[in-house]
Amino acid sequence: MVEDRARSTKGFSSFPAYEWPEGKQSAVLLSVDVDAIAPYLWEHRDGVPDRLARLEIRRFGLRSGLGRLLDLFDRYRVKASFYVPAVVAEFDPDLLPALLAAGHEIGLHGYFHELVRDIREDEFRAALDSSLELFERQTGRLPVGFRSPAWEMTPQMLAEIKARGLAYDSSLMGFDHPYDIDGVVEIPVQWALDDAIFYKFEGSGNERWAPVSGSAVLEDWLAEWRALHRFGGLFTLTVHDWISGRAQRIAKLEKLLEAMTAETGTWIATGAEIARHHASSVNSGRFSVASAIPAAIGARRFGARP
Ligand SMILES: [Zn+2]
Repeated sequence: MVEDRARSTKGFSSFPAYEWPEGKQSAVLLSVDVDAIAPYLWEHRDGVPDRLARLEIRRFGLRSGLGRLLDLFDRYRVKASFYVPAVVAEFDPDLLPALLAAGHEIGLHGYFHELVRDIREDEFRAALDSSLELFERQTGRLPVGFRSPAWEMTPQMLAEIKARGLAYDSSLMGFDHPYDIDGVVEIPVQWALDDAIFYKFEGSGNERWAPVSGSAVLEDWLAEWRALHRFGGLFTLTVHDWISGRAQRIAKLEKLLEAMTAETGTWIATGAEIARHHASSVNSGRFSVASAIPAAIGARRFGARP
């Protein structure tokens, strides 16, 4: 399937196939966004309602869901990347050390899971620095990866990440394998591989549909993984403690891991390992792009009045 791997385009010209470590044709990043109650607190940052339903749904994550995910990864001997809003670690100081002790990677995910649309650039800078400070204080070392809450980024955020010497960002989708954007290594994500779009249901009144069946999700993720393997891509799975920690969803993840660990040509690695591979291999600079936000179309619209 080598022809498939080389057939991505750069404008009208081809990018080469992505090169994985010797003997590997594709890669898998198992990532967990340990959001817990942080997004709820951000949504209600000016006043937390005197209600329990949505809080308890999310508290299930640290009480049961995360332990089930850790046990699952342990049984299949795979290491994952856990992106943790600093406030979650602040409330539960044992969390980050426990994830590191189990051999997993921990990465940044905002301080309060603040959304890009809600904050100014200086607030992003302060949240990033405060998160780094808290991670270092609790674990004695600095994390190397950043993942933006809700996967929105700005060129300025990329510049701040680069200025702090972080090894990578994992929030964008411009390729389906690692690349460089504004000089930052990007470990791409994909909405179709995020548990939230299929399963998230909090009874918040904003839901437009019922959760998707776990069987359908498993079938879809397996199909995407097999196809990405054929194209030599990166399968970045993103799950959440309080969403995928539910019983049937753990059972479905077990089936996914069963298939992926049986394929020796798939490299299952953490974001930090993948970023290190990218930066130290022939891939570095081969897939280099600029954020390059275009000028507004404005008056060029057909029929626009001057
Ligand atoms: Zn999140």
